[in-house]
Amino acid sequence: AKRTQTRHAVYSQESDGQETTRAGIQLLGQLRRAIGDGELAVHYQPKVDLRTGSLIGAEALVRWLHPDRGMLYPDQFLPLVRQHGLMHAMTDLVLDRALDDAATWHAGGHPLPVAVNLFPPTLGDVDLPTRITQALAHRDLAPTTLMVEITEDFLLGNLDRARTVLVGLRELGIRIAIDDFGSGYSALSYLRELPIDEVKLDRSFIAPITHDPRAASIVRAVIDLAHTLGLTTVAEGVEDTETAKTLAGYGCDVAQGNYYSAPVTDCDLLFLLASAPRAKLR
Ligand code: C2E
Ligand code: MG
Ligand code: MG
Ligand code: MG
Repeated sequence: AKRTQTRHAVYSQESDGQETTRAGIQLLGQLRRAIGDGELAVHYQPKVDLRTGSLIGAEALVRWLHPDRGMLYPDQFLPLVRQHGLMHAMTDLVLDRALDDAATWHAGGHPLPVAVNLFPPTLGDVDLPTRITQALAHRDLAPTTLMVEITEDFLLGNLDRARTVLVGLRELGIRIAIDDFGSGYSALSYLRELPIDEVKLDRSFIAPITHDPRAASIVRAVIDLAHTLGLTTVAEGVEDTETAKTLAGYGCDVAQGNYYSAPVTDCDLLFLLASAPRAKLR
């Protein structure tokens, strides 16, 4: 939460590419270079089994190690990526990096699944399943090593195409999570019509559960609904023991959040994995 206060949106979502500022143009040039020059890094946030405390997966989160500004977070440059057609390049970069790191962990005796966030328009790309299959095969990784996270807004407009790509991914054995569930235009029909494996409950519902009975009721109901449909539930943004205990009491399967670990480098993640026979984070 502290980090958010120190962030400055260098290019706000509202400016929408039209009224391009001088700072925005400069940053865009730097970003194009950064994608090629290896200034983008991928950090990993552990996903923890709420029953056992074991590390059971990791979410890949992109960072920009800017030479002058220091580490930039996604909200500071993803709008530029979206507006200037860099989504495919960035997705491929993050996928490659995440699968390289997963292969390293695997080779070290830790076959940990990794989750990669997709931009909604990526799901209109019918070649995506093929590219992902090749990327996995190239590293001798099982399809279950990869999970993709999609947000609810991905469907606005092109449900059919998105469904085709998702079904393609699912048939290959890649698992699919619906991210930030509840925060956008959640349509329950998505849960019915799409091949989803995991529901990630948005932090805005999770944070208040210990003091807001309405938030708590919604979270319990979504967990029960997801379980009825055979889906795994993940709570995002867990920041304290009380929240973790409450979620465990509701039967939530998995938790992610700064209580367990902030996103860390690939090396630090391997260290977490190696530091205990079955790494337990709490
Ligand atoms: P997200 O997928 O919902 O990722 C979770 C975000 O919540 C991450 O922010 C993570 O650092 C933050 N978070 C985790 N635990 C806590 C906590 O306990 N408290 C608080 N306050 N925050 C917590 P981050 O890394 O800044 O990413 C923001 C968003 O940017 C992501 O939200 C995702 O939508 C997007 N994003 C990040 N990396 C990528 C990427 O490689 N590709 C795409 N397409 N989007 C990405
Ligand atoms: Mg995510
Ligand atoms: Mg999320
Ligand atoms: Mg979220």
